[in-house]
Amino acid sequence: MKRALITGVTGQDGAYLSEFLLKRGYEVYGLLRRSASSDVVAERLRWLGIQDDVRLIDGNLTDISSLIRALQEVKPDEVYNLGAQSFVKASWNQPLLTGNVTAMGAGNLLEAVRLVAPGARFYQASSSEMYGKIQEARQSESTPFYPRSPYAVAKLYAHWLTVNYRESFGLHASSGILFNHESPLRGIEFVTRKITDGVARIKLGLADELRMGNLEATRDWGHARDYVQGMWLMLQQDEADDYVLATGRTTSVREFCRMAFAHVGLDWEAYVKTDSTFLRPAEVEVLMGDASKAQRKLGWAATTSLEEMVAEMVEADLARHKARGA
Ligand code: GDP
Repeated sequence: MKRALITGVTGQDGAYLSEFLLKRGYEVYGLLRRSASSDVVAERLRWLGIQDDVRLIDGNLTDISSLIRALQEVKPDEVYNLGAQSFVKASWNQPLLTGNVTAMGAGNLLEAVRLVAPGARFYQASSSEMYGKIQEARQSESTPFYPRSPYAVAKLYAHWLTVNYRESFGLHASSGILFNHESPLRGIEFVTRKITDGVARIKLGLADELRMGNLEATRDWGHARDYVQGMWLMLQQDEADDYVLATGRTTSVREFCRMAFAHVGLDWEAYVKTDSTFLRPAEVEVLMGDASKAQRKLGWAATTSLEEMVAEMVEADLARHKARGA
């Protein structure tokens, strides 16, 4: 039986990846950062019904000794580094914390793997945010990076360190450059979930408007469940490498709003207001990925359409609010 250790196990991708690996017979261990709100940490694992199947180990990406101890205890075949301060906007308010967790945290984990589990296969969660001010209309593994936020700068450090540990020490370390991927388990601060939650509130009479930032930004949005399969596929290859995962389709925030409101029969323009507090000091205007390498080498392709995902997310938020007694 294979063993996997996942950092960021309580996040969206950690939950879906755990579900995916459990179905394939893995023993799944998750690194859990101590927090005062321990009652809600396993919410996403609970949503998927796997909270009793994932073994949680105390640890923190900023404390290398906790990582060494976790690796010694688990003896993983595969390590997935999904832990990060992952909200772009927050990274301007806490740039150094973002660097400590998202950049140095990956360094700590790579170093710990090199020292105590050099045979383990390593996955680094890299991000399309690294393309930032895009240098090519469709971004692939060979497109130059131009990060536009402290978050993206931190992710770029982690990406190159992963490449460097592969080239320097022969670690089986792969970096997945994933374009935005969403689901009902997406954090509420991210734009898609903010919109689908807002639509549900408005539909149920709990709110009468939705305040948004830049509606013109466009993103290549896929479904997280499809993307975690791509992570796993990268670690099943004989050679470690870097891969873009994306849908190849880009859609504006405005259009996402239209689709989500239309799903419940409402006209978005009657409810969406723009509010400058949600604008960012520097914006990533457009992202559109080219996942042809992943398609060719991994046989991977995004399978969930944006329409299906919007419907799933709005329905899930309606169900959540109804369950709370709306
Ligand atoms: P990101 O691509 O990792 O930054 O993911 P987000 O979901 O946080 O943001 C996606 C895009 O939506 C960015 O270009 C934001 O500027 C834009 N956006 C517009 N309004 C909002 C908003 O109210 N909240 C968030 N999070 N993003 C917004």
